[in-house]
Amino acid sequence: THQVHIIGGGLAGSEAAWQLAQAGVKVRLSEMRGAGDMTPAHQTDGLAEMVCSNSFRSDDPDKNAVGLLHQEMRRMGSLIMAQADRAKVPAGSALAVDRDVFSDGVTRALGDHPNVEIVRERIDVLPDSGLTIVATGPLTAMTLAQSIGAATGMEALAFFDAIAPIVHRDSIDMDVCWMASRWDKGTVDPDNPEWDGRDYINCPMDRDQYLAFVQGLIDAEKTDFKQWEKDTPYFEGCMPIEVMAERGPETLRYGPMKGKGLDDPRTGRWPYAVVQLRQDNALGTLWNMVGFQTKMKHAAQVALFRTIPGLEKAEFARLGGLHRNTFIRSPELLDGELRLKAAPHIRFAGQITGCEGYVESSAIGLLAGLFAAAEISGRPIAPPPPETALGALLGHITGGADAAGYQPMNINFGLFPPMADAHKKQRKEAMTARARAALGDWMQGLDMLETA
Ligand code: FAD
Repeated sequence: THQVHIIGGGLAGSEAAWQLAQAGVKVRLSEMRGAGDMTPAHQTDGLAEMVCSNSFRSDDPDKNAVGLLHQEMRRMGSLIMAQADRAKVPAGSALAVDRDVFSDGVTRALGDHPNVEIVRERIDVLPDSGLTIVATGPLTAMTLAQSIGAATGMEALAFFDAIAPIVHRDSIDMDVCWMASRWDKGTVDPDNPEWDGRDYINCPMDRDQYLAFVQGLIDAEKTDFKQWEKDTPYFEGCMPIEVMAERGPETLRYGPMKGKGLDDPRTGRWPYAVVQLRQDNALGTLWNMVGFQTKMKHAAQVALFRTIPGLEKAEFARLGGLHRNTFIRSPELLDGELRLKAAPHIRFAGQITGCEGYVESSAIGLLAGLFAAAEISGRPIAPPPPETALGALLGHITGGADAAGYQPMNINFGLFPPMADAHKKQRKEAMTARARAALGDWMQGLDMLETA
């Protein structure tokens, strides 16, 4: 008999199972592939199958946030990282793997573990009792998605992911852009004197720039919709920007790119058109491009969006995209230990919590497993500190993000507490050094897991 039931043997569920098993906890791992079911993106029965790219992205722990996350996970005894290192193929400073060797390694390590029972079965309802971790991913089978929807409020379960690009604030040229709300109705925050009371960053365009930009949207290379994406319900308000451009040259100027009511302090007039950015995280380091959900290819997005006045040097924390993605509004639904507030025997892990990417999903699986193991041992642990990559990601999911506009997010330096004193050039190194020290301190408090 098991002590924890994990639903979903993907990246996150496999890592959670490993953490629990290594802490001496008996796990049942339910995976529907291999029992007659398949997702629209998976192709094998292997655990932790990588559905698209074979890359875990940068492996640089000093200057890159995802590289730092790799390092933290290795320090925490991650199965996903151990098997990725074993399956590594040459890819410069990135960690890319042979996906079959990787998936086989994960499947074998869990299959051989005396504390893990892998059961090939589809689960259709959330269990009423017993410690459970739901790690069914962005393509969660529909019946279970409905059960999750019933437990979380249907409107809280996003089925379709229309994402707009997110820009690092410090890469925006504020000599060109300015802050203002339409008709000057900004919110004034008396607690924050730095805040000038105007909510949006505005990038002005003249007529020629606007028309060239609209043509650029129409000409840009797009990602094709797969059939299963065409079958996914399409929510209002997430029409791709290029589809709007195709409707006519004026459509965007009467939609998200409306210049009306926005006095440009440099001209004293309303610009012909604007691109607006809205603050995306509590720290104010990340700003999203309002109404700019798109299925243009990533390279095309970077090239075209850098023609926008003020965004010539924009660095993107995330590019726009459009695909099915089942995820819950974690910031309002989960507590700091990834438990469903309304049913705390259930934890969520992986992409369904609203993180984005293989590494991030695995990292949240690692934390869910760790928290569950600590709960069983009767000695709950504090969450990892916000200065660490694990803590920054967890903090975003369980509290830092704006719940209403919650969208999937990769790990990036904008999620870490800022370091004002560090020189811009060395800021990343300073942040990763701070993270390493903070993780070390935190890990010293985790000794109980070794003895459990
Ligand atoms: P998954 O790895 O999908 O694991 C979930 C598991 O749960 C699956 O094995 C599934 O079969 C199982 N399952 C689902 N429902 C049930 C049920 N009811 N009962 C039992 N089992 C069930 N990230 C990247 O970093 N790089 C990429 O290139 C990339 N490409 C992507 C392409 C697509 C089409 C999609 C949808 C996502 C992509 N992602 C990518 C995002 C994300 O990182 C991966 O989806 C990642 O696999 C998420 O990990 P997970 O463990 O949360 O979910």
